[in-house]
Amino acid sequence: MSGVCPICGRQGQLEFHHCTGKIRGKPIHPWFVFRICGPCNRGEYLLWMVAGVADEEPPPIVQLRRVVLWLDTWDQPFDQGQVWMLKRTLADIADRWDVAS
Ligand SMILES: [Zn+2]
Repeated sequence: MSGVCPICGRQGQLEFHHCTGKIRGKPIHPWFVFRICGPCNRGEYLLWMVAGVADEEPPPIVQLRRVVLWLDTWDQPFDQGQVWMLKRTLADIADRWDVAS
């Protein structure tokens, strides 16, 4: 799918950015996804590396830090659907936290 990247404003092919990442290729929170351009998608991964949250199997605290990084990147209001995605993701991370501790 092509369109305008909501992060940088470039026109081109858009990719799925899974904000909390994947484990063995499977999105952790498949509903918490945004379409952004390839360079911005790779930029998010570089941000994870710089921030120390690039774990291959991220525990809940790392998933939460990735959400915070995404909220910092996404510098615009969320629509109702995006608010729902965020709430569902935070609730799921809280559930995983209980299981992990
Ligand atoms: Zn972009």
